[in-house]
Amino acid sequence: LELLEQSEQFEEQLEKNGGVYNDEKLNKYLDEVGRAVIPEGDPPERTRWRFRVIRSPYANAFALPNGSIYLSTGLLSLLENESQLASVIAHESAHVLNRHAFAFYKSARNRIRLINIAALAEAWAPLFGTVGSAVAMLATVSRIALVLTIYSYSRELETEADVHAAHRLLELNYDAKELLKTFRLLETSYEAEYVKLYYRNHPTLQKRIDYTSLELQSNPQQPVSAEQRAVYRVRYLSRTEKVLRHNVRLNVENRRFRTALALSQKLVEFRPESSENILLRADAFRELGPRTIEVRGEELSEKAWKIKQKLTPDEEERLLLATPPGRAALRTNQENADGLYRKALGLDSNNARAHLGFAFLLEQMQRPQEAAEHYREYLRLEPEARDGGRIRRRIEKINARPPL
Ligand SMILES: [Zn+2]
Repeated sequence: LELLEQSEQFEEQLEKNGGVYNDEKLNKYLDEVGRAVIPEGDPPERTRWRFRVIRSPYANAFALPNGSIYLSTGLLSLLENESQLASVIAHESAHVLNRHAFAFYKSARNRIRLINIAALAEAWAPLFGTVGSAVAMLATVSRIALVLTIYSYSRELETEADVHAAHRLLELNYDAKELLKTFRLLETSYEAEYVKLYYRNHPTLQKRIDYTSLELQSNPQQPVSAEQRAVYRVRYLSRTEKVLRHNVRLNVENRRFRTALALSQKLVEFRPESSENILLRADAFRELGPRTIEVRGEELSEKAWKIKQKLTPDEEERLLLATPPGRAALRTNQENADGLYRKALGLDSNNARAHLGFAFLLEQMQRPQEAAEHYREYLRLEPEARDGGRIRRRIEKINARPPL
């Protein structure tokens, strides 16, 4: 009862703190896939199934003992089709069906008492990105929810959940091989960062792939037709396009520029003629600034990461611009952004945010007169824009400058 009570409190707080991403169409889709994936029959006592999205740029999924399954915007952005989505939900639902949280709580109860909750909350906060600090306060209302959201269960229980997922995919004629791809996708990282807490107790990737492959081999599946696979892919990508866009912006807000860029590529590949998708890619290139697209070797140490955490974005960029690779990266990224803004505006000249992004870029590139034109275009299209005052001041500043 205590666990269930804590879960409810956690959810209330999460909603209040803006941690939940609410999109009716997406929720409906998750609900449809979720309900199909859950085996028929009554849910365990005192649980009711709910599928929700948490605003976090990090790939994460967790199930609360009351039957609520959370998928992060970061996770939804990495997945490629409905079979993969079904595999994640099936895995998480196994934790609820088999009451893993209760087993965990019973045996780890004393250990949890000893855990320094403050330190844990601090480690946890970055996993939620911009809403992290607000959400970290939840640690005081719901210790168990805190633990469940970042730590996995014992290896045995995680294996049980993976095997359950494999069987559900087979039974539902989803492409079961996608389960293996999902494991790999969840390990995708475009950043040099040291916040991978939530994989700590998971069986290693290779072990998961090994025992799941064995499970699939001993239960051969009629191959899923290419046609059906295309349906799973297009249905998934069209239902998640909006949340993927949201997550690209979340990544930028959290200084995860390389992830933003990689995900924007996925958007453009899915709908190459969407002005909105091209704009996001342009913005990602602009925000990348003097950083290289790929992580450089010298960034790959915990020490380098810690140093970077202490710098403001401006300080970081100034340091990079003092080096030849930094200046070269900036030039390439600006050229890419320039081409993409033009393309986005070519497809839709009324795309206000494309005018705004392009104006920022042109100012960065020391082309203030052109920048002013696009700022004006932005204000014309968005007269009520919240940042209208700030943009007007920028135009005034440009106008006050003597021409070159
Ligand atoms: Zn799990």
